[in-house]
Amino acid sequence: MPATELDQIVNLCKRRGFVYPSAEIYGGFRSTYDYGPLGSLMLRNVKDAWVRAMVQQRHDVVLIDAAILSPPQVWEASGHLSNFTDPLVDCTNCKNRFREDKLDDPNTCPSCGAIGSFTEARQFNLMFKTQAGPLADSGADAYLRPETAQGMFTNFGQVLQTSRKKPPFGIAQVGKSFRNEITPQNWIFRTREFEQMEMEFFVPPADGPKWYEYWCAERLDWYVRHGIPSDMLRLRAHGDDELSHYSTGTSDVEFLFPWGWDELEGIAQRTDFDLKAHSERSGERLDYFDQQTNERYVPYVIEPAAGATRTMAAFLLAAYDEEVVNDETRTVLRLHPRLAPYTIAVLPLSKKDTLTPLAHQVHKLLSDRYMVDYDETQAIGRRYRRQDEIGTPLCVTVDFDSLDDNAVTIRDRDTMDQVRVPVEDLVQIVTDRLGF
Ligand code: ATP
Repeated sequence: MPATELDQIVNLCKRRGFVYPSAEIYGGFRSTYDYGPLGSLMLRNVKDAWVRAMVQQRHDVVLIDAAILSPPQVWEASGHLSNFTDPLVDCTNCKNRFREDKLDDPNTCPSCGAIGSFTEARQFNLMFKTQAGPLADSGADAYLRPETAQGMFTNFGQVLQTSRKKPPFGIAQVGKSFRNEITPQNWIFRTREFEQMEMEFFVPPADGPKWYEYWCAERLDWYVRHGIPSDMLRLRAHGDDELSHYSTGTSDVEFLFPWGWDELEGIAQRTDFDLKAHSERSGERLDYFDQQTNERYVPYVIEPAAGATRTMAAFLLAAYDEEVVNDETRTVLRLHPRLAPYTIAVLPLSKKDTLTPLAHQVHKLLSDRYMVDYDETQAIGRRYRRQDEIGTPLCVTVDFDSLDDNAVTIRDRDTMDQVRVPVEDLVQIVTDRLGF
């Protein structure tokens, strides 16, 4: 059973070092989080799994890493300065502020219950503005990117030239984005600083619809392949009133969160909106000349845009399980092995010096290839439970017999089955079991 309450995961994550409220020693900083020893490993795994599927296992997508700070021209051209807004309403009774389009009932304040107490909605721009350099004049204005996508458009010409790709091809990027959200909420689901995994796929205009269908199916499947049950996922097409200023069609991959269906990723048809806008604003040509057909065109763009941190929350919620074993509740994170913070834990049965050299040797063998935890404290049963709770797929136990037979025990997180294997075959056996 996946987690039914967000708190089950929030508490586990805080207790075990996945995610902490940021600046907590100063009372915290609303809606900002730090990723601890386990969370930072898991977040990295989520991003790696995305890059693996979107770049490594394909021949038509390249990766970039563009700047977070950018000048106003980028956001004027992209339309974000004028359009990247959410409707903000104030409750005149309790003075709280809300995003109008996310209210369950647009007449009732969810905070104080007052009816008809909202002000007229006004459009609030979500971009963080700052100043670059020592002069505080308007020439120094800069913005923190609210999406990674624009880096793919402004670099389109350079990437085309240097990578020698031609449409259909994609440019992918993973990195931080910043939005001054009116109501950040639900833990790492909606924060003001977050990480995105976005890819702009450039195609001949006539092929736009075909590739849109392709990426909707492909992206939904990525979540299933990484362990989210398909009945907790769905694709939902946007109504016309929901579309972003650049989109002619968008579908969201939605996940069944404890509070209901909500977005994990948007797959948008951005057409030639961005390339044209940047071309007009910058005076640079951002198009493609097809030598075979002798045609020059501005490619259309299909954009699968996912949140890395939001997706991590979904993977954790879906993986959470509790079961009763020998009258005790066992909490298990049934994370996909590629996403679990540690793939393996090496557990010497006792802290006695005699076991240490072999346990270290086993750790060295495995850690060359995998992220491996090493834990020699407490009784072995409790250590298994600790690893179950953080999702470690395999434990390898070194015991006193190991010193004679040079064999160790592999224990499986999901089945709790144990098998004894020779140390010399360990890496191969583990690789076969995990499939990587
Ligand atoms: P929402 O409607 O939830 O505000 P959006 O439709 O504006 O999101 P996009 O601009 O499509 O979001 O961004 C792509 C993805 O980036 C989202 O699907 C989500 O996973 C992630 N994302 C967007 N805003 C946030 C945020 N404030 N915190 C965490 N992740 C976010």
